Amino acid sequence: MTLLVVGSVAIDSVEAPGGRADDVVGGAALYFSLAASFFTPVRMVGVVGPDFPRDMLAELQRRGIDLAGVEERPGPTFRWKGRYHEDVNVRDTLHLDLGVFGDFRPKLPPSYRDSRYVFLANIDPVLQASVLEQLNAPAVVGCDTMNHWIAESRPALEKLLKNVGMLVINDEEARLLSRERNIVKSAARILQMGPHTLLIKRGEYGIIQFAGQSIFAVPAFPLEEVTDPTGAGDCFAGGFMAELARSGDTSPAGLRRAIVYGSVMGSFVVEDFGPRRLLKLTREDIDRRYQQFVSLTEIECR
Ligand code: AMP
Repeated sequence: MTLLVVGSVAIDSVEAPGGRADDVVGGAALYFSLAASFFTPVRMVGVVGPDFPRDMLAELQRRGIDLAGVEERPGPTFRWKGRYHEDVNVRDTLHLDLGVFGDFRPKLPPSYRDSRYVFLANIDPVLQASVLEQLNAPAVVGCDTMNHWIAESRPALEKLLKNVGMLVINDEEARLLSRERNIVKSAARILQMGPHTLLIKRGEYGIIQFAGQSIFAVPAFPLEEVTDPTGAGDCFAGGFMAELARSGDTSPAGLRRAIVYGSVMGSFVVEDFGPRRLLKLTREDIDRRYQQFVSLTEIECR
């Protein structure tokens, strides 16, 4: 089943543990789409300026990513510059230039309206809601957000969350949203806000899922070196949502499988700068690491 994503498309500059890279393509929607495209066809909604590399747009299309919803507007593409600390779970935004993303108003082409699987990457919750309003009958809705929107647009975010099934956020965002320090209490509070499933990203500590009374945790894949953590969360969400869209299986077992595929995609993207590693990846690489994840977490039951 086709998967729709709305979010940022960017040109990034990063100072990371593995060195630095300037002017690499990025943005949440781009990372999400590239990761998801290994599993299912993707429909992307975003905005770029004429400075965004044409060859990357062609590459996305080659990978089955529909760009009918990506507008080109006069002006610079969104630019983000970040620096990671020694502890790669912490990063500072050094510079942000919204460019054409500043007055982005997502407008879905008619061909996108029947999308059933949807991911609302981190943008203004009012815009995320406007995407849902343009869809005929969204069935599986995933959503991300960030501290800024939790602090500045809480009423709009809380309204949106009533229509979101799966919320994918990091631990700091979960604490801010729930106003609870403890992660279990925090999850219980968020599950009262609307989502039936909460996925908390804990950087190099992995992912923890809360759904009803059930809790499921997967570690991050142990890597010798993290070169550039940018996009790990978006690639997790891309692999997770796309495996659900591919299988149509949202049972507890289907969700667990999707969480491991998401973790696999997050573990690959950090191995090189920007989306470079994803562009070299094969489906065999993905399935091999999935098996490694399975043996990593296998526990004898007696
Ligand atoms: P992640 O590492 O998964 O949080 O995603 C990183 C991507 O998010 C980068 O490629 C940035 O271009 C993009 N990004 C950074 N800040 C923002 C923002 N305020 N809104 C939307 N996207 C952003």
